[in-house]
Amino acid sequence: MYSDRINALPPYLFATIDESKAKMLAKGIDVIDLGIGDPDQPTPSHIVESMCQAVRDPATHRYPSYTGMLEFRKAAARWCNETKGINIDPEGQTLTLIGSKEGVAHVPLAFINPGDVVLCPDPAYPVYKIGAQFAGGEPFTIPLLEENDFLPDLDAIPADMLARAKLMFINYPNNPTSATADRSFFEEVVEFSKNNNIIVVHDNAYSQMVYEGYQSSSFLSVDGAMDVGIELFSLSKTYNMTGWRLGFAVGNEKLIKGFGKVKSNIDSGAFDAIQRAGITALTGSQQCVSDMNRIYEKRRNALLKGLHGIGLDVKPPKATFYIWAPVPKGYDSMGFSQLLLEKAGIVATPGVGFGPYGEGYIRFALTQSVERINEAVIRMEELRI
Ligand SMILES: *Cc1c(COP(=O)(O)O)cnc(C)c1O
Repeated sequence: MYSDRINALPPYLFATIDESKAKMLAKGIDVIDLGIGDPDQPTPSHIVESMCQAVRDPATHRYPSYTGMLEFRKAAARWCNETKGINIDPEGQTLTLIGSKEGVAHVPLAFINPGDVVLCPDPAYPVYKIGAQFAGGEPFTIPLLEENDFLPDLDAIPADMLARAKLMFINYPNNPTSATADRSFFEEVVEFSKNNNIIVVHDNAYSQMVYEGYQSSSFLSVDGAMDVGIELFSLSKTYNMTGWRLGFAVGNEKLIKGFGKVKSNIDSGAFDAIQRAGITALTGSQQCVSDMNRIYEKRRNALLKGLHGIGLDVKPPKATFYIWAPVPKGYDSMGFSQLLLEKAGIVATPGVGFGPYGEGYIRFALTQSVERINEAVIRMEELRI
């Protein structure tokens, strides 16, 4: 009954965890969920207010423009300039997305023919590989190893794959490893991409979720990047807007144009009222972003202290709201997350859920209060692992 593309989907690895979690909740057990990467705090009120006004205006009720409201694209371009120092043309180099997941899933349709190779990091957000496959492409895994600071080793990609590769996904600050990349890595990627004729799609969903003064660079800020790639930004994590579905793509004009052709044949754009609220988010005070980062930083510190206490070696991440921790000796990632859930009522995501190279790690999302994280830490100490 199902298409080959559906039948080829990887098995859903979280079924057992979902099941155990549901059972524990049914029994009335207090479960601390550090599983999903979804901000727990509400969208800042000035953004909500802007949405309320926009939704009352009938002008927002009609089909949006395919490429997105020009005013939103202007706001996005200005935001890119103010936060990342890059110059983007809002007309030719900017496209509104219905969240960056939508972008990741659809962008291969514009560039990938059957048999083309898509370079996909692993561990990673699963949609890179699936988006490549849905377009008929062949994902090729580029491992992110701790010994390389979770950056891909581009020299290790075999020549026959390079010859067939047409597109590459990268993502820094990174989900799930929380690794960051500096400009020299992006420079290396540009050179690699030019030498091998590979389109680069940089998923920059965590660009603003940073700690201790760290500033994450835009891929497009390095020389030549505009010739070879696009970058996807999302309002989801930055402004606690995951439910709203809003993001944007910026970068090379031809690539944006091709991507836009796919989108105009699949969706009819993001709701104008949401784009108006997005303008408020991007052009208003960014204090809400630094306030959230302070909150995540305190949670990060609380969880790190606890993990160090039980002997897990984790370095403090400079960005993202994830802690990527090696699992204790004697466990695999699934086994350890099962133990945390069943014996401590803690949900965390087994690394293998992000691909085979995630094995040996577990991901905690900092989406609970410091009090709840401290409670989770006490429960982990009681496990005596
Ligand atoms: C959360 C996340 C996304 C999806 O963001 P949306 O804009 O809500 O679709 C994309 N990429 C990564 C790496 C993410 O973690």
